[in-house]
Amino acid sequence: MKIPTYKKILDYWFFKNGKINKINSITKKYITKSSIDYGEPTCWACGEHWNGKYDISGEYNKKDIYKAWQSSPLERCHIIPDSLGGLNVPSNIFLMCKDCHVESPDTIYSGIFFSWLDNKKTILDIRYKMIIETFNGLGIDISKKHIYESINSVFKTKKTRKNFYCFLEKNTSSHFGVISPFTIIGALQLYINKPS
Ligand SMILES: [Zn+2]
Repeated sequence: MKIPTYKKILDYWFFKNGKINKINSITKKYITKSSIDYGEPTCWACGEHWNGKYDISGEYNKKDIYKAWQSSPLERCHIIPDSLGGLNVPSNIFLMCKDCHVESPDTIYSGIFFSWLDNKKTILDIRYKMIIETFNGLGIDISKKHIYESINSVFKTKKTRKNFYCFLEKNTSSHFGVISPFTIIGALQLYINKPS
């Protein structure tokens, strides 16, 4: 038996009840953590969505959904590997990015796969942690209300953002063309504290 098509996999995980907006109960438990939209092909484990590169723009129907997911880099991954007797049926196939495919456990017990999934950090979790760590690395505690509010005011409108980007350009430099996150946050700290 061949690996199921993307259409069959999506039908099983998304449209089992025949209704477009109803995710079946298994999907609800394991997939909605990354709040997946049918029109946005997304890794079911980490939430990678390639900055919307494969998203459908505007209105769409089921056919467009199949097409978008199939043409994304998402891989069809066995929950129980076929080499260990896992079947080529949609219920044993999960759509994931390459990194998650490589990382996911390959055992004869599907429960191990699902506990990995339950504890898997999403891309947003990881990015959020990185941002907080960058602020902490410069001794900025953004849990303090006045600090949080002054940072917020920098990004509030197009004009305030533009002012900050001009400041960034004048006052920072890059290593080999890459602006480090600490450079940006450091500039932000200078900018907020500069005498106006
Ligand atoms: Zn992933």
